[in-house]
Amino acid sequence: MPDTLFDKIIRREIPADIVYEDDDVLGFRDINPQAPVHVLFVPKTPVATLNDLTEADALLVGKVVLAATRWAKTQGFAENGYRVVMNCNRDGGQTVFHIHLHLLAGRAMHWPPG
Ligand code: 5GP
Repeated sequence: MPDTLFDKIIRREIPADIVYEDDDVLGFRDINPQAPVHVLFVPKTPVATLNDLTEADALLVGKVVLAATRWAKTQGFAENGYRVVMNCNRDGGQTVFHIHLHLLAGRAMHWPPG
């Protein structure tokens, strides 16, 4: 799989505002935030799109979700709520082909999202 800018952030080759890290997951603020809190949680092992996930990735995906929810609980907004989004390919709005979870918080979200 070709390198993406998220691989470079993980390797600290380009800067990012990192807010969370464990052995498997990195969390850093989105450069173009869509809410007062907008953090991207990415697995350190790259997978290009949600379509490329296999059964073998189930634990990794679970770790990404748990990293986000764990971090949310430390930030004081978890009770009020938040939104998580994972975009897939063109119609999903995916622009970086290394799967990632968007955690959005700090304002009321609308539904349907549009
Ligand atoms: P996608 O559209 O693939 O679901 O999300 C990619 C996200 O990466 C976008 O929300 C975009 O703002 C963010 N992004 C793109 N380039 C950079 C960057 O260099 N640094 C950071 N922190 N976020 C980026």
